[in-house]
Amino acid sequence: MPAIEDAGDDLPSTAEKTLFGKYEVGRLLGYGAFAKVYHARDVRTEQSVAIKAINKQRILKGGLAANVKREISIMRRLRHPNIVRLLEVLANKKKIYFVLEFAKGGELFAKVAKSRFSEHLSRRYFQQLISAVGYCHSRGVYHRDLKPENLLLDENWNLKVTDFGLSALTEQIRPDGLLHTLCGTPAYVAPEILSKKGYDGAKVDIWSCGIILFVLNAGYLPFNDPNLMVMYRKIYNGEFRVPRWTSPDLKRLLSRLLDTNPQTRITVDEIINDPWFKIDYKEVEFHCDHLELKDDEYDSPTSTSTSDNLKVMNAFDIISFSSGYNLSRLLDDREVGERFLSTASPEKIIEKVVEVAEGERLTVVTRRESCVKVVGGHNCNFVMAVEIKRLTDELVVVEVRRIDSEVGPGHHIWKDKIRPGLSNLLYKTGPASCR
Ligand code: ATP
Ligand code: MG
Repeated sequence: MPAIEDAGDDLPSTAEKTLFGKYEVGRLLGYGAFAKVYHARDVRTEQSVAIKAINKQRILKGGLAANVKREISIMRRLRHPNIVRLLEVLANKKKIYFVLEFAKGGELFAKVAKSRFSEHLSRRYFQQLISAVGYCHSRGVYHRDLKPENLLLDENWNLKVTDFGLSALTEQIRPDGLLHTLCGTPAYVAPEILSKKGYDGAKVDIWSCGIILFVLNAGYLPFNDPNLMVMYRKIYNGEFRVPRWTSPDLKRLLSRLLDTNPQTRITVDEIINDPWFKIDYKEVEFHCDHLELKDDEYDSPTSTSTSDNLKVMNAFDIISFSSGYNLSRLLDDREVGERFLSTASPEKIIEKVVEVAEGERLTVVTRRESCVKVVGGHNCNFVMAVEIKRLTDELVVVEVRRIDSEVGPGHHIWKDKIRPGLSNLLYKTGPASCR
């Protein structure tokens, strides 16, 4: 079977191909503005997945790869029954592949298009939506692009919100909200985005949730007009009318959601206490699997370090050890890496790296509590960064990333000098290298 690693956008939609020997890629599920989404099967587990393929060039052009990496690592940590899970991220020279949980039931709005939902059903989906949105907001993650295409259903017809956390990715491709909305419909976009005032991600998501609730109940959009300028004006002014079948409580909630002033717009906490919303609302219970380590510490994107300034890894980081690829290669295609476990203290590991490196006449350019960077070698073409992350109280992960050549002098420095120099400190060799 041919590999699709290098396939371009012209990949035939019906082709049966294997991605990295792991996923059998099948039919095309849909197109986004910048991606194609395929159905695929995990060769090992037979599980269905969706694979979203994005051209790497589009991301790198923005020069914000580090930002994208951060967003991805946040997204990987989101675990909620109403959010499509990001299972893995794979990359090759040309593309990034997001391996996503497969939402078998298709798009929610395909169902609304057939007929509007009862108030009871509208509430059920809205509750699931707010549960997902609240979960992400409390972790500092905003969607900023909530719209029908991103609301999917699983096999039990439960809501699955997709693309959470990918906003940085799409925003740099479409640098502002307005540009993006001109590509599609502005119908779901909050007035403060249209007026380019700068906006609060949480408030913008709430507005979009208001539009979604309106559509579920009414079967049509609250702000709509064939003339875009008229539509914008309606959004700015918050001019909408609820259909006659809307109950007074729902009407009240809609007017709080579609408040054009982001300052006074209802918050997630207020929604959860709203009388219409509260009916039959069941808070989601979370089941953490045994790999989830001290989850609270990684919940917020800003809390990636602990008191001793070491990064703490979570279950996804550990699982991604075996993925065979990592996104560090987004930054430089020549970069390779390896990870090891160690029981030694970070201080001791750093000390040893410096000692060996200096013995090889390499220059230490950065030295901190948990990382060290050295350069040198023939024509200074060897660059190595060692970063230490706390895994458990006893164990740390030593992550070595280097730019060298497989056969060149750099490889020799690593393989013959530094690696053996560290061997006493290494508890166990990690199963995967980045290449
Ligand atoms: P954008 O580029 O703004 O994200 P989009 O949301 O329309 O636009 P994609 O996220 O690329 O585009 O998805 C395209 C289509 O593929 C979706 O509309 C949906 O029908 C389908 N799709 C996406 N993710 C999944 C998934 N996890 N399971 C099943 N189908 C999916
Ligand atoms: Mg999408």
